[in-house]
Amino acid sequence: MPDLWDIIVVGGGTAGLPAATFAARRGAKVLVIEAAPVIGGTTQISTGQLSAAGSRLQVNTGVTDTPDLHFDDVIRISKNTCDPMLVRLAVDNAADTLDWLMDSGFTPLDNHPVLGKAHEPYSVERYCWGKDGGVSILEAIQPPYEAEVAKGGATTMLDTVVTDLIEEAGAIVGVVAKGLDGIATEYRGRNILLTTGGYASNGEMFEAINGYKQYTAEAYPYALGQGVTLAESAGGQMRGAEKYYCSFGSVMESSAIPSKVLARPNHWPEQRAPWEVYVNVHGERFIAEDNPSVDVREHALLKQPDLRYWIIFDQHIAETAPVIFIEWTREKMMEAFANEELFYSADTLAELATAAGIDGTNLEKSIADYNAALGGDDPLGRQHRPAPVVKPPFYAVRAQGASITSIAGLNVDASLRVLDKAGNPIPNLFAAGEILGSGQTMGEASVGGMMVTPALTFGRMLGDSMLSWTDEKAAAAE
Ligand SMILES: Cc1cc2nc3c(=O)[nH]c(=O)nc-3n(C[C@H](O)[C@H](O)[C@H](O)COP(=O)(O)OP(=O)(O)OC[C@H]3O[C@@H](n4cnc5c(N)ncnc54)[C@H](O)[C@@H]3O)c2cc1C
Repeated sequence: MPDLWDIIVVGGGTAGLPAATFAARRGAKVLVIEAAPVIGGTTQISTGQLSAAGSRLQVNTGVTDTPDLHFDDVIRISKNTCDPMLVRLAVDNAADTLDWLMDSGFTPLDNHPVLGKAHEPYSVERYCWGKDGGVSILEAIQPPYEAEVAKGGATTMLDTVVTDLIEEAGAIVGVVAKGLDGIATEYRGRNILLTTGGYASNGEMFEAINGYKQYTAEAYPYALGQGVTLAESAGGQMRGAEKYYCSFGSVMESSAIPSKVLARPNHWPEQRAPWEVYVNVHGERFIAEDNPSVDVREHALLKQPDLRYWIIFDQHIAETAPVIFIEWTREKMMEAFANEELFYSADTLAELATAAGIDGTNLEKSIADYNAALGGDDPLGRQHRPAPVVKPPFYAVRAQGASITSIAGLNVDASLRVLDKAGNPIPNLFAAGEILGSGQTMGEASVGGMMVTPALTFGRMLGDSMLSWTDEKAAAAE
């Protein structure tokens, strides 16, 4: 092993692997230190939905698009809460990333690109993913990386956790890492790149930073926020916690925090118009259940206690409506009321409220008001109201809003150098990926593809051009 690496990549995932690959192609000696027993990071579990304007995919499918349009869409969807500098950097270079992925074997689904519906839609079709989600991305980025390993440009250390940064004369000159044997070893480098992902699997840090509990256990288990701690120890600064937002909710396996997802309600009215009524813990409705904007629905849930709501319906709806849970049969849904903790049924609304832990008086009033308004206007403006909620038994299912990503992240400049509290770059320290915080590229919203694509893009750009390992830098580090 060299005494001095050109680049030490801390975290061999979505951002780290492209960084290592492109730097090694330019002749750098790259060490990738990875905490997990495998490389790939969150690509192994991510939905892997990408967005890129002006890509070959769009050109070949006749979609006219530009990075400017992409930029405007991100500003619109995020309501101008993102970091325009990082969004600009991401969207201006996203097409090259997607083209590279496709050159490396990534195949988008047949009818792609699409507008995207899971989140607030784009204005043109620029959204795509492969048949295996994030794994389709990994299958494209891993072989080029392994090719550089085979050529000797890159070296992988698995099962090894970076625990400290080495600082000398105000510059970061290396890292301390521990393997499975627990022995701390120093590795020296001219550039230290933090691509450790976010903190969404560290409940304590998540709550301390975001002010919300981490309800979901669906993030990558190694997203423990260690990179954040490393950067802060060197003077790095976090920002963006105020941009916290949540999804519109899933039904968790249990009331444990965090918990895995048991069922995903189809709450997209354009896919399945709602039959049910949604109430918060106070038994009050808080949104027109068929509001067409996913962003409006998510922000309405953000204001509810514990980011939680209950899906209320009756026997008639249970028997008649299309099943609300994605890929569930009616039989499976009805069995859940006998077996699952967060599914409740009772003969009266008052008993249902007691069982579900919500305010019974208000629930009765909310349902009575909903039913009474069926002949006229709904108080919240809901349009699709196919049936009253009157026929016992009554049902309630508890849904939980949550975020699988880390909202806050490190402050960096346009060269992805980590900045200290005074706004000055910390010499030799760079960062890319979710460690920058989803709030920077998506703002206080979910903007399609604006996590995976910037992570890949920033990693690629760092390796391809932003990082340097000149003689002066070498001399400074030695
Ligand atoms: C279920 C799910 C679905 C998603 N779907 C989408 C989507 O469709 N579109 C989208 O844009 N975004 C999506 N995201 C978000 C996106 O996937 C991530 O933000 C992105 O992949 C993170 O990339 P990264 O390189 O920062 O982190 P990762 O890919 O997680 O890589 C970080 C690596 O660092 C390692 N590491 C951590 N700490 C240390 C340490 N101390 N020492 C050494 N190594 C360390 C980790 O083990 C990991 O391998 C999704 C996220 C999840 C969880």
